[in-house]
Amino acid sequence: MSYSSWFQEHGKKHQKIMAKLTHLNSDEVIAYFRFENMVKSEPDFCPLYKKNKKCHDIDNLNCYLCACPNFRFNDNGFKKIEDKTLYSKCSIDSKDGSKYIGDDAIHQNCAGCLVPHHEKYIKKRFSRDWFEIMREVSP
Ligand code: SF4
Repeated sequence: MSYSSWFQEHGKKHQKIMAKLTHLNSDEVIAYFRFENMVKSEPDFCPLYKKNKKCHDIDNLNCYLCACPNFRFNDNGFKKIEDKTLYSKCSIDSKDGSKYIGDDAIHQNCAGCLVPHHEKYIKKRFSRDWFEIMREVSP
């Protein structure tokens, strides 16, 4: 699956959930997106939910800002770095991010980074419109 198709599909799933939560205030919406509730209430939001597995093994994992407003992707590649194409990167160069370097491609690896999963950060960036928060992610 390309980054674009995942991004569009995930944003639509987010919109569908938000359409059900108009009676909740911002803090309640954020609380709804806690992993423990999402696994039970929105099993189709993330493929890991069916295995009751977290993408990051931490307490208080919040899924509201999956993916991450700092992620940048381009399915056609941003540029060539030697003989490899750079397809994604982190706009803030998070110290906890890294890169997958394949034979001909480089991708951002966010496995070690918790930036978008903390509620303090989510509150700072909060909008009920996921696509608005993610507006700089895709080209
Ligand atoms: S490394 Fe962290 S801050 Fe950067 S894009 Fe990935 S999750 Fe976001």
